[in-house]
Amino acid sequence: MRLIGVEAGGTKFVCVLGNASGEIQDRLEVPTEVPEITLEKIIGFVRKHNEIEPIQAIGIGSFGPIDPIHSSSTYGYITSTPKLAWHNCNIVGAFQEHFKVPIGFDTDVNAAALGEHYWGSGVNCRHLIYLTVGTGIGGGVIMNGQLQHGMMHAEMGHLFIPHDRAKDPFAGACPFHKDCLEGLAAGPAIKERWGVESALELPPNHIAWEIESDYLAYAMANYILCFSPERIILGGGVMKQKHLLPMIQTKTREFLAGYIQNYSVSHINDTIVLAALGQEAGNVGALALAKQAITCI
Ligand SMILES: [Zn+2]
Repeated sequence: MRLIGVEAGGTKFVCVLGNASGEIQDRLEVPTEVPEITLEKIIGFVRKHNEIEPIQAIGIGSFGPIDPIHSSSTYGYITSTPKLAWHNCNIVGAFQEHFKVPIGFDTDVNAAALGEHYWGSGVNCRHLIYLTVGTGIGGGVIMNGQLQHGMMHAEMGHLFIPHDRAKDPFAGACPFHKDCLEGLAAGPAIKERWGVESALELPPNHIAWEIESDYLAYAMANYILCFSPERIILGGGVMKQKHLLPMIQTKTREFLAGYIQNYSVSHINDTIVLAALGQEAGNVGALALAKQAITCI
């Protein structure tokens, strides 16, 4: 099977040719300029591979907000993004003009969630959550093997969590809510709170990680209470700090306080795990959207 995955990011687009096992055979990386320039380069790459041997499906995992609802008149659009050139861009339509194959379309984090479900840390899990903790915090929910949407897509990074201002006087960095989860725990918040260029400058025993793991564990507890997932998969640059995961696991169990039996000591370490796809989560996730587009026909 020949599949195309398009990872549409705010600073770059990555387009890959791959197969139904999530293996990548060729790739193109281009900067995110105006749609006419960037999409022409990506479509040229897809056309080249389609002429060698026909492709079967395309998956697009995009920065948001987007409209992923099939019945909507703006399905397939990047909608109210602050990147003005991409505002109301019909990205799915641009590919449909050139290629008569099924096209899967969702957010970049939902794409990564599906990629982890097919080929990463969520294999054989029917109910899982994927959360990326990096320059922002975003998540995707899969229940009964299906990505979940409401009127649009979830914004799980902007969760409201306890903020003890005596312990952490930092006001928060979210331009909309100040001290939501993303405003307190994403990479930019860590840098701003501690005045560092990179979180790597903070040693494992720094109080920064105590505070960071508090916030992420509150989020874990809330997601568990809302969705009862078998697994929560954590990715993104902040999670590269190896000491962070065990702190989050321990605190999540403490915060749940024995209320939900399945998330006891023995289970919590199997429930909250690290992502397996790493840097490739975005483009392998887009391949997963392409694979799903075929199986949904
Ligand atoms: Zn927010």
